[in-house]
Amino acid sequence: MNAERFRTALTDERSRIEAAIEYLHRETPGSLEDETEEMLGGSDNHLGDAAAGTLDREIDYTLEGHSEQVLEQIDAALARIEAGTFGTCRNCGKPIAEERLEARPWATLCIDCQRDAERR
Ligand SMILES: [Zn+2]
Repeated sequence: MNAERFRTALTDERSRIEAAIEYLHRETPGSLEDETEEMLGGSDNHLGDAAAGTLDREIDYTLEGHSEQVLEQIDAALARIEAGTFGTCRNCGKPIAEERLEARPWATLCIDCQRDAERR
């Protein structure tokens, strides 16, 4: 198993997610006050707009939370490449299938253990 070839995939994905998080921060800088003001100042349809805005923000936060989790997993995977344990199942110690690692290079479980974990 050549773990080195996954290093690029992991660092690429890492910068992609970091850019996405940064984008989310720019998009939703937490301007709740402005929005409230707009709402009070407003015309007929403002309540609906405000509700939609809140929903958008919640979705963004969920995405961001998830992205930060993936970032942690990517960092852990890079550390495993350094340590020489990359691609080994954390649970049973067998090698993780390469096609699985190509889809999710940060995977820590082989497909069998992953299925077990999801069943529980
Ligand atoms: Zn396993």
